[in-house]
Amino acid sequence: MTKDIVIFGMQGSGKGTQGEILAKKHGFTIFETGKELRKIREENSNLGRKIKSIMDRGDLVTNSIVMEIVENFFINNKNKKILFDGIPRSMEQKETFDALLKKYNKSIEGIYLILDEGTAIERMLERGRSDDSLEVIKKRLENYHNETIPVIDEYVNEGIMTEIDATGTIEDIEAIIDNLLLIK
Ligand code: AMP
Repeated sequence: MTKDIVIFGMQGSGKGTQGEILAKKHGFTIFETGKELRKIREENSNLGRKIKSIMDRGDLVTNSIVMEIVENFFINNKNKKILFDGIPRSMEQKETFDALLKKYNKSIEGIYLILDEGTAIERMLERGRSDDSLEVIKKRLENYHNETIPVIDEYVNEGIMTEIDATGTIEDIEAIIDNLLLIK
């Protein structure tokens, strides 16, 4: 596959795990939006403090901040195949993201890991990250429904999204993704 990949799925759907496996096996460089933001959050800077207060509420960080990080990543990773995790998460981000892809002559294939909400919450509570309290998880899910589902629907309409049932084991999903990459 010569295109970049955008991986979607409710938090807890296993998209981080599958993204890592896929990237290692098939030579993609990962851009994990949450991880990049967490790095800046730890900095003792105004931007770091601003990002921290937004993330601690489970809200989406401002579009312009996120897109600046994405563009820097493009510039620093020219000619690499990229796997995007956690972006775009709103229609506003999709517009800017699609424009950036165009600017850098890139095109994408989408993978959507579908999981029911109860299982996703269970998995999130098990991993125990500091921003994974039940209250924050619920807020993130609310944002996911309101902001991210419309983005997924739009990529489905554009015909570039493959939907995968994510209830199986890690190995099951890995095999499905491997097959997908063979035919794309
Ligand atoms: P994640 O690691 O994907 O669960 O993201 C953790 C937190 O980072 C989210 O709750 C948001 O506050 C922030 N975040 C991650 N991705 C984005 C994005 N594309 N746009 C805005 N905020 C984001």
